[in-house]
Amino acid sequence: MRLTASSGSTRRLRDVAGPTAPGARRRGDGRLTNDLNPHDLGPQDACGVFGVWAPGEDVAKLSYFGLYALQHRGQESAGIAVSNGRQILVYKDMGLVSQVFDESTLEALKGHLAVGHSRYSTTGGSTWANAQPTFRPTADGSIALAHNGNLTNTLELQQMVKELPHAPGELDFHARNLENNTTNDTSLVTALLAYHPDTSLEARAVEVLPLLRGAFSFVWMDENTLYAARDPQGIRPLVLGRLERGWVVASETAALDIVGASYVREVEPGELVAIDEDGLRTSSFADPAPKGCLFEFVYLARPDTLISGQRIHSVRVEIGRKLARAFPAEADLVIPVPESGTPAAIGYAEASGIPYGTGLVKNSYVGRTFIQPSQTIRQLGIRLKLNPLRDVIEGKRLVVVDDSIVRGNTQRALVRMLREAGAREVHVRISSPPVKWPCFYGIDFATRAELIANGLSPEEICASIGADSLHYISLDDLVEATTVPMDNLCRACFDGTYPVPLPEPEHLGKHLLESFPDLLDVDGLAVSVAGGGASDALERP
Ligand code: SF4
Repeated sequence: MRLTASSGSTRRLRDVAGPTAPGARRRGDGRLTNDLNPHDLGPQDACGVFGVWAPGEDVAKLSYFGLYALQHRGQESAGIAVSNGRQILVYKDMGLVSQVFDESTLEALKGHLAVGHSRYSTTGGSTWANAQPTFRPTADGSIALAHNGNLTNTLELQQMVKELPHAPGELDFHARNLENNTTNDTSLVTALLAYHPDTSLEARAVEVLPLLRGAFSFVWMDENTLYAARDPQGIRPLVLGRLERGWVVASETAALDIVGASYVREVEPGELVAIDEDGLRTSSFADPAPKGCLFEFVYLARPDTLISGQRIHSVRVEIGRKLARAFPAEADLVIPVPESGTPAAIGYAEASGIPYGTGLVKNSYVGRTFIQPSQTIRQLGIRLKLNPLRDVIEGKRLVVVDDSIVRGNTQRALVRMLREAGAREVHVRISSPPVKWPCFYGIDFATRAELIANGLSPEEICASIGADSLHYISLDDLVEATTVPMDNLCRACFDGTYPVPLPEPEHLGKHLLESFPDLLDVDGLAVSVAGGGASDALERP
């Protein structure tokens, strides 16, 4: 754990306790979700961001509960930065929001504005240094920034950071690179924004934001002002809410609900918002070209969240109805794969007239244990997460509704488990089209080679997972259920049409900056990782 402090006039960094300080309470390492069963990964979410400007409110606690509502978007690390008008304090660590923060930590974070972040890593490994909010001193204070999304011109940005002139009064390049062992795209943006010796941070943002490519929903702050910005495509969600005595910005409306903020509107694609004692200012840094993530509707966003005016739960129920009409089944019971398959299963049951039931019980907490499972436990595989209700499913012909198939390992194990529990037939229905392409805008699926739909037809996948029948919703039906025009959605993981052009494959990938560390790693702290870049993700068949 670490507290980072900045004072506007004296600019300094103070380590209160390192991440492995002797006697510190042992915390999770942020990696075991994946280690639990590496052959059983679903789509990994991007991140959750939260910002609040509210004098007189306990902004640290509001941020804590906002992040708590966004925990599903990122579970590797969490952090909150708070300003009291004179200095910014950042507290971040590996683990869940509830593991990183306790009452006494939040008590130390006093101020009137804050930004928070829960992370799943997309560029840069899952390390303490890469946890957010990122922090930088500036010529007249400091900034802290939180990012949901993933940039695609990271190497260009790395070069821009290298070429930044020294600010007047700045000691040296090393002093500027206080977070010198970071390997994420976000720290590069923070460095670019932090360089504004002759202009305001707001004016600097209008210069820097148009230079970024890819997906970004940012919230950041200096000592006095809360900022938010969304990429011109609006790929990741970002919403604005109103408190009685302030404003909130968050990844999803569910985070507004939990802190008692009323929903105002989405931050528009290409919009920059600034909030301080003068009120809310808004400007446009780029022409909007909306391409919201279609997968948010299927899986990523919470069912109680609103996107494009649609309640996600209602969209998913409608997807289920459409699935039932397009792909009926002779069956006795419709069951969801909990919990992301639940609304679509409700819709399927409603439209088909087949009774809906609970056939699988999910252990909601097991995916986030910090205890390494023994080999015996690991061999139980899917039972770590799901357990069948034998009494319900024995002798039945089942329709099983799930949100997506990535590698197929989960569904194969699921079908086998249901048959072992006595199911007579298993008909699988999927509420998204086949995932054939990787995502470079903030979701970690798998490489192309690992995506089962990239090499096999639906019939072959059905045989591979051992189901009696398998059907996916069509892209047209899915888009119709969202009520958003097809042209306003990113659907690249389904059809390979990337709305923001991608650079050369070797200039993409999670470990890009570990593979090209020389420009940022002034202390030689970054670790070189073989196989970085996305050539594998894109080019392998
Ligand atoms: S590629 Fe898929 S997951 Fe990624 S932003 Fe586009 S629709 Fe969303």
